[in-house]
Amino acid sequence: MKSSQNTTIECGVCGRSLPHRRMLSCSMVRPQLAAVLDKEHPQWQRTGWICLDDLAAARRRHIEGLLVSERGELSALDRSVLDSMSRNETLARNIEDSFGDARSFGDRVADKVAQFGGSWGFIITFSGLLVVWMAFNVLAATIWQFDPYPFILLNLLLSSLAAFQAPIIMMSQRRQEEKDRARSENDYRVNLKAELEIRHLHEKIDHLLMRQWERLTEIQQIQLELMEDIANERRRK
Ligand SMILES: [Zn+2]
Repeated sequence: MKSSQNTTIECGVCGRSLPHRRMLSCSMVRPQLAAVLDKEHPQWQRTGWICLDDLAAARRRHIEGLLVSERGELSALDRSVLDSMSRNETLARNIEDSFGDARSFGDRVADKVAQFGGSWGFIITFSGLLVVWMAFNVLAATIWQFDPYPFILLNLLLSSLAAFQAPIIMMSQRRQEEKDRARSENDYRVNLKAELEIRHLHEKIDHLLMRQWERLTEIQQIQLELMEDIANERRRK
């Protein structure tokens, strides 16, 4: 058993001699991939062996060909999906985690300000503050009034607040947009990969079924021949 694992076989595509476990019989290669290999490696024989690296490369080119024929051109996202498929990597990632870690101090402050500025808590607190300010400056004794009617200081404070709040909220919104874009790109990649993997599995299952039928008819043929032989022998007796 051990010796069969250690024996090396020559790959019919790249010509390298590799261990048995890294090779696959060419008869197991799906017709779609065999067509790709036929086109790119005319010296390739469908009866020999092929290494798993060449098979993965052929699979990548097959899928690339499918995508190009459907869309005309591949985007950077499509290429990243193809790369992850050929490297057997998982593609799904949590956008919340990667964006949460990458936030700078300024980003975190902008998020907090935008979060508070867009809440009922802010509206109620601010309304209370305005009412207290105006009531005090109308009702208090004249010497205590620091901003008498028509509240010029309050106006200045409000316009300064608005001037700072708008860009802070815009910063937070821009970050949110970036996050949304990253999330939709991630969704697209995961969906495309799942679609391609399912198609790949379909082709594999079709191929397996076909091979199984071929084997079954072969076995049936052998059984028929054996039965004929037995019948002939009996007749002779
Ligand atoms: Zn090879």
